[in-house]
Amino acid sequence: MARIFCIANQKGGVGKTTTTVNLAAGLARLGQRVLLIDLDPQGNATMGSNVDKRQLEHTVYDVLLEDCKAADAIVSAEQVGYDVLGANRELAGAEVELVTQDRREKRLKLALSKVRKNYDFILIDCPPALSLLTLNGLCCAHGVIVPMQCEYFALEGLTDLVNTIRQVHANLNPELKVIGLLRVMYDPRITLQQQVSEQLKEHFGDKVFETVIPRNVRLAEAPSYGLPGVVFDASAKGSKAFVEFAREMVQRVQQD
Ligand code: ATP
Ligand code: MG
Repeated sequence: MARIFCIANQKGGVGKTTTTVNLAAGLARLGQRVLLIDLDPQGNATMGSNVDKRQLEHTVYDVLLEDCKAADAIVSAEQVGYDVLGANRELAGAEVELVTQDRREKRLKLALSKVRKNYDFILIDCPPALSLLTLNGLCCAHGVIVPMQCEYFALEGLTDLVNTIRQVHANLNPELKVIGLLRVMYDPRITLQQQVSEQLKEHFGDKVFETVIPRNVRLAEAPSYGLPGVVFDASAKGSKAFVEFAREMVQRVQQD
């Protein structure tokens, strides 16, 4: 049965999508069966997994509105080694359309119950907001992975996210917890980043993943080829770090 993880941080551009597609590709390399779910109307994780969001017959939008089963909307992205439940701009409408419907925050959870057995990991790329879409992700997940840059303001947004996770844990999904904070786009030459990284470890202890993802241009180039860095250039420093992170995640799941 799959373990389900949300990659979330309501701050924009912190590396959520890069983390989701590269962790998915890293886990696939380690022989894990992976489903990536794109919960962001931007559709970046879809495109970055070699799936054309404009050509999809069904997306996560249809699944949330119960117009189609998850199994019928999932595509196999052979080049990257994992399956994708994709998204495109249509998904932005779901936010409004779901408001009047019941069990609106549990739609994704219900939809996944039939496909969970087919995977070891399900990774959900969340949009940069604590919205109903993100809530659907949090309601079906076992844990949250929070990518963050080691910058001065990084901790500010964290409080809101942690409070939301607490509320979801208390009211909607008792399984939910923060699995860990992932330091991304890290540049060890910048003293401030070293300091913030140290502070994170002091405050959050083993909730900070051991693996650190460096700033690496190959990871930034890969999406323009429609690929995760791990697939585009496996020898790049950033790609190696993500495979290492995948290993760390497999270990964490085994310890649980
Ligand atoms: P959004 O909030 O808009 O969904 P996001 O949190 O998903 O953004 P990404 O799209 O993953 O963030 O990353 C933002 C930008 O930073 C992208 O251009 C991406 O290629 C680049 N980037 C992410 N991680 C790295 C890295 N380790 N090294 C270099 N560039 C990176
Ligand atoms: Mg994103």
